[in-house]
Amino acid sequence: MPEWNRRQWLAAFTSAGLGAAGVAAAERSGPKPKRQIATRAEYPDADTTPLPLVDYQPRSMLHVTETHVPRSRYPNIDFHSHLSWIDSKGQSDVVHHGAKPEEILQVMDSKNVRMMVNLTGGYGPLLEETIRYWQAPHPDRFAVFVEPWYDKIAIPNYAHFQADQIERSSKMGAKGLKILKTLGLYLREQVKTGPLVKIDDRRFDEMWETAGALNMPVAIHISDPEAFFLPIDRFNERYEELNAHPDWSFYGKDFPSNLELQEARNRVMARHPRTKFVALHVGDSENLSYISECLDRYPNLYVDIAARIGELGRQPRTARKFFDKYQDRILFATDATPHGDETPQQIFGRELYEIYYRFLETEDEYFDYAPAPKPPQGRWRIYGIGLPDNILRKVYFENAARLLGLSH
Ligand SMILES: [Zn+2]
Repeated sequence: MPEWNRRQWLAAFTSAGLGAAGVAAAERSGPKPKRQIATRAEYPDADTTPLPLVDYQPRSMLHVTETHVPRSRYPNIDFHSHLSWIDSKGQSDVVHHGAKPEEILQVMDSKNVRMMVNLTGGYGPLLEETIRYWQAPHPDRFAVFVEPWYDKIAIPNYAHFQADQIERSSKMGAKGLKILKTLGLYLREQVKTGPLVKIDDRRFDEMWETAGALNMPVAIHISDPEAFFLPIDRFNERYEELNAHPDWSFYGKDFPSNLELQEARNRVMARHPRTKFVALHVGDSENLSYISECLDRYPNLYVDIAARIGELGRQPRTARKFFDKYQDRILFATDATPHGDETPQQIFGRELYEIYYRFLETEDEYFDYAPAPKPPQGRWRIYGIGLPDNILRKVYFENAARLLGLSH
């Protein structure tokens, strides 16, 4: 008996009006027809040219609820932003301000953002400039953090010098200490050359202690998504992101593993129990059971959710339980950077806040985690976790207010 083609099979199926039982009987009796792939000749109008991945922008056909959340249900503190940063490309480091305070305040007012923490405030005279520009004129709207003066790492008695810098910065008005992933992944013994300096290097002990004594929370970014430590190949779930930013890859060379970096951070927290650490980007947003163990082990650990709703929102049930359990130690944060275009998940603006609010407050399904035509951190969409009011109040405001020593 000749094999049927697809059309014949379909015709037989529909004209015979076979129900499920009939299909089962047909399958039992005759030879099983082979499913054939339609040929180009059969469908001359079909475009079978391979589509480059970069051009693929599928639109969801799901008809599901779309909730617009223009303002957060409660006033919030955005614990993680980069309103200014240190530009170190020229002869000497300079502060670069991403926008004018008035421009930022307008969006804050319309989106219910009570305060923004500008983490990358710099160090020494640069920090002074950042505080003067942002915090001094608007002390109830902007808080500035200090960064370590890494260029001095090779000087004798750096440990003491750095601790002293923290004390000075506190007097200047800095509200906390920010550690970029520079520590552990970029900073080397001679700043740019030599072996990598470890996160738990003893030269920083005095700095961690001083921050704790001065009630300055330490916002610490350690490691990065696990895929950044794997080859940039067809199996890498962040292939497009890494392809666009190959310098974000920590695969090979002398880079420590993701786990080694996190364990080094854990040793620091164990050694300095009086100091409060906020692990930025949820610490490890892809492995909530691991970061949960860390939260259980170190009572001085907090986390922020900046630039990781893409991760939390693709595991909504696990994320929801995580928020339930650690509701007193999770901080609202976005990683917002004004006028950036390279990382759509961080572009400061109304749209960015609305996506975060939708994720936290609604149970909407399958929506974009970033204001971009293509999901920039990986090809997936997210689900809202619909937090109850009491948790929203803590995550949006109370937890950060406590850490920053603000009165409500
Ligand atoms: Zn950041």
